[in-house]
Amino acid sequence: MSTAQTQPQSVQSVREASLAIERVKLRKLEILFGSWWRHYAVPYEFRVTLYCENEHCPYCGGPLGPLDGEGLGRVGDAMSAHLDHMDPLSRGGEDSIRNALYVCAACNLRKRDRLFCDWLEQLAPQHQEQATTIYIAKHGHAPDAFEPGRRQVRLMRPRLELQLDESVLRRLFPHPLVAGPPRTPPAVAAGSKPFRRKRRSHP
Ligand SMILES: [Zn+2]
Repeated sequence: MSTAQTQPQSVQSVREASLAIERVKLRKLEILFGSWWRHYAVPYEFRVTLYCENEHCPYCGGPLGPLDGEGLGRVGDAMSAHLDHMDPLSRGGEDSIRNALYVCAACNLRKRDRLFCDWLEQLAPQHQEQATTIYIAKHGHAPDAFEPGRRQVRLMRPRLELQLDESVLRRLFPHPLVAGPPRTPPAVAAGSKPFRRKRRSHP
């Protein structure tokens, strides 16, 4: 990323080392979950990978701010980049790297718990297009094809299996543990209607 030149050497070195560690973890997830691994990759585990995906805030084009935990960046403060679930967990979005990206604090605070489709309407046209392209690349479908799953809380605990060496994992799990994405049927509380959003067409 082009901001690399502006980063102190120590920050850059820590970032590169962290990226290498995250790449190993991603390979381990692939062993565990086969071709579905992106659905099971929790954003918290891959913060540097996600942070390096976009140079600027994909919602407004402004500066992202530092990564939380790096230098001045603290989780959720006004200085640092915020990790956004494009379709919020509270609305049935997936807690995975497919549904997560770093955005500026101002956009994250303005977006709140809007679904991505609804949030798009608030963006300037050029950023609508850019954000939609990113969404499709990460999700593999258009924003209005989103189907809500269960409400989730952020999964902040790493999987125990990720502590094992790749060679051990390959021996223990010669075949993927799953044959598809997580089962996330819409949560329906007693006496309530299932959540449905109306479909809209997008250019
Ligand atoms: Zn922004």
